[in-house]
Amino acid sequence: MKKWVYMFTEGKAEMKNLLGGKGANLADMTSLGLPIPQGFTVTTEACIDYYDNGKVVSDVIQSQVFDGISKLEVIQGKKFGDTCDPLLVSVRSGSRASMPGMMDTILNLGLNDVSVEGFANKTNNPRFAYDSYRRFIQMFSDVVMEMSKTFFEGILDDMKEEKGVQFDTDLTAGDLKELIEKYKAIYKEKMGEDFPQDPKKQLMEAVKAVFRSWDNPRAIVYRRMNDIPGDWGTAVNVQSMVFGNMGETSGTGVAFTRNPSTGDEGIYGEYLINAQGEDVVAGIRTPLSIEKLEQDLPECYKEFMQIANKLEEHYKDMQDMEFTIQEGKLFFLQTRNGKRTAPAALKIACDLVDEGKITKEEALTRIDAKSLDQLLHPTFDVAALKAGKVLGKALPASPGAAAGKVYFTAEDAKEAEKRGERVILVRLETSPEDIEGMSAAKGILTVRGGMTSHAAVVARGMGTACISGCGEIKISEVNKVFELGGEVIREGDYLSLDGSTGIIYLGDIKTVEASVSGYFARIMEWSDQYRTLQIRTNADTPKDAANAIKLGAQGIGLCRTEHMFFDPDRIPKIRKMILSCSVEGREEALSELLEFQKADFKAMYEVLKEMPMTVRYLDPPLHEFVPTSDEDIIALAEDMNITVEEVRITCENLHEFNPMMGHRGCRLAVTYPEIAKMQTRAVLEAAIEVKQEKGYNIIPEIMIPLICEKKELQYVKAIVIETAEQVKKEMNSDIEYHIGTMIEIPRAALLADEIASEAKFFSFGTNDLTQMTYGFSRDDAGKFLDCYYMSKIFESDPFARLDLNGVGQLIEIAVKKGREVNPNLKLGICGEHGGDPSSIEFCNRIGLDYVSCSPFRVPIARLAAAQAAIASEKM
Ligand code: ADP
Ligand code: MG
Ligand code: MG
Repeated sequence: MKKWVYMFTEGKAEMKNLLGGKGANLADMTSLGLPIPQGFTVTTEACIDYYDNGKVVSDVIQSQVFDGISKLEVIQGKKFGDTCDPLLVSVRSGSRASMPGMMDTILNLGLNDVSVEGFANKTNNPRFAYDSYRRFIQMFSDVVMEMSKTFFEGILDDMKEEKGVQFDTDLTAGDLKELIEKYKAIYKEKMGEDFPQDPKKQLMEAVKAVFRSWDNPRAIVYRRMNDIPGDWGTAVNVQSMVFGNMGETSGTGVAFTRNPSTGDEGIYGEYLINAQGEDVVAGIRTPLSIEKLEQDLPECYKEFMQIANKLEEHYKDMQDMEFTIQEGKLFFLQTRNGKRTAPAALKIACDLVDEGKITKEEALTRIDAKSLDQLLHPTFDVAALKAGKVLGKALPASPGAAAGKVYFTAEDAKEAEKRGERVILVRLETSPEDIEGMSAAKGILTVRGGMTSHAAVVARGMGTACISGCGEIKISEVNKVFELGGEVIREGDYLSLDGSTGIIYLGDIKTVEASVSGYFARIMEWSDQYRTLQIRTNADTPKDAANAIKLGAQGIGLCRTEHMFFDPDRIPKIRKMILSCSVEGREEALSELLEFQKADFKAMYEVLKEMPMTVRYLDPPLHEFVPTSDEDIIALAEDMNITVEEVRITCENLHEFNPMMGHRGCRLAVTYPEIAKMQTRAVLEAAIEVKQEKGYNIIPEIMIPLICEKKELQYVKAIVIETAEQVKKEMNSDIEYHIGTMIEIPRAALLADEIASEAKFFSFGTNDLTQMTYGFSRDDAGKFLDCYYMSKIFESDPFARLDLNGVGQLIEIAVKKGREVNPNLKLGICGEHGGDPSSIEFCNRIGLDYVSCSPFRVPIARLAAAQAAIASEKM
């Protein structure tokens, strides 16, 4: 019979896919002989089975779960559902990849009205027993029945006020008993039935709730942001309870073996005495630093340190651990490779290599390439910072500098970001529902919570600057205003946060770009030793190009020439060109543009020295350049010596129903060859002059966009060659140049063999290729894609992460057919995907020569390419 349930004594570290990360590590720690409350894991396969069965847990799985309970009863010497001394368990989710805070845990399961009394007697601690029961009612109602937590929090707050106490630990046994009655009453009122008393029913409902939580909206969002497939499912861990809320010699905490923010050596953590579960991270009471435990409970501290060190040695990586102390006895509840900021990841990777614990290769695979993005974020300009007014200081929860406008809800933050604003999200505390607003924000500020609060953990994961636990703030989220350091800040006001120091500044402080140095530089150096893919960049200004080269780019994969036309000096000239009805008129306008374009290319070649640059000819639909304001229209009419009416009519004629599929790309060169001629002249003259002046060996790469047919390429190529040869003759140069094309229309991919006979290189324009393959435009897809994610039709944004099944297949076809005809065909990718690690892995696998991405993604691409090379070697 298939095994759906594994006791912690049966599981192994290697069974992560089946048992989830938490379950596999609990089993592994059990076999290391560590103090782990025993339990069992219901497999991820059982979760998949539940969904395949129309959300039903099969009889076989149920009976294996109850078998697990029987075995656990033997281990613990207690009976589940016993009225005098009940076995209580926690029900915890745990998928293959850790998804912190994404799925909820239920504690103290097995209590009911009768057994709580037995429990009170047995432990001789009624206060503790009632506290456990009221927590269970609240968690069960929230997680299983999806009753809002606010009902219970409201009742608790009222009770505290009524009794005149500040913390829930100040409530007496009698108070808590009263609280339980109120909790049960509201449960009955809202759910229309009594709170379930049968522990078996409680358990199965909880298991199902964990399975269901795999598909809650925040889990779906988190998976999409972290490339986690939806078909992995989650395991469920059922574990006997230990209690941190039994009094002053009990407590619960979280700790890291190294500092997750900086990577510094030494234990780093927080705990609370007389607390349970999530109290530490929920920011309800302010936790104590782990060093304090040495004074509070020295024996526990010693043992804790020994185990922590042992775990780091064992997993050879920084660990994030959860522990509970029950009446002076220490238990470990979880360990995993800790999430960390990018600076910490780099330092830890280098340190572990230096300590001889891991190899360079291992170090490279440990770092999340995407997270390097954080390091490429700005810091505050030193001078501007000095002038800034400090409002206050709190915990530096996630490093980086951020300045922007204040918003008070996740929803508002999201909207503001869509409008293109820089957002600072200010909250009392964050919760998982805020995740999208948090990702929209440049910086996050919370009033409550410690270094391991939800806001802090999530912000570090996202690389967003975060300051937490600023208790001095007086905030009204409803009125969208807060007070700090004598200032009143309202929605839309500017605020600046330094997540590295925890200092909060008034106003919009200037930020400066980051550079690659120290540990970062070392990791980049190692990456370059392993990767085989070349990394180019998409840049069309000398400044961007220089920046990209500083970040390690080896050339330009995409220089978009239209960007060179949008300059206020130049746009009138291109408008003149577009509106001219004759070839002569266009040529005249173009001749004015030639000098500009040539100067731009010269500047680019000078920065690049001998690195390659692929210049893409004019691509967008012409109407993008057309004037819309009256002022511009009048100016143009004057300049061209025609009537305003004529300008308007011509502009209207340029209107297209579907510009994405309209008169653009090489179609412009076919209809207006003079454009391609001008651009060819600009490229060639620039290259030849720089070659002659500086002695650089430049080979211009000319790229014709949006080709769908070989004859089309032949046609445009002939125009380019004719002009190029003429320029060479005029300038007495024998310069070599290459002509290639973008592959961005599915037809071009399918007929790549024909097209390759005319091309020196292909560059996959995966933005267009994706939209043409899916048949929806990148600019409109945002409106409906959210619905697609929530309906589980799509798991990720095909414009962010290359669709390997469809678009990827077209690329593979084109690579294969292209190389068959032209074995020396140079192949690259220049869409947004060029900077996405999972897409880079694909590019490496199918044998592209290079990926080209935006300058700030170059370091990410370098590391991702190294990881891809290391992974492919292992296969
Ligand atoms: P998450 O994945 O969100 O961290 P966990 O399953 O780790 O959720 O549970 C959250 C917290 O609940 C733990 O950190 C621990 O403090 C507490 N907890 C879970 N199981 C037990 C248990 N068996 N005994 C005592 N506390 C527990
Ligand atoms: Mg946990
Ligand atoms: Mg394109």
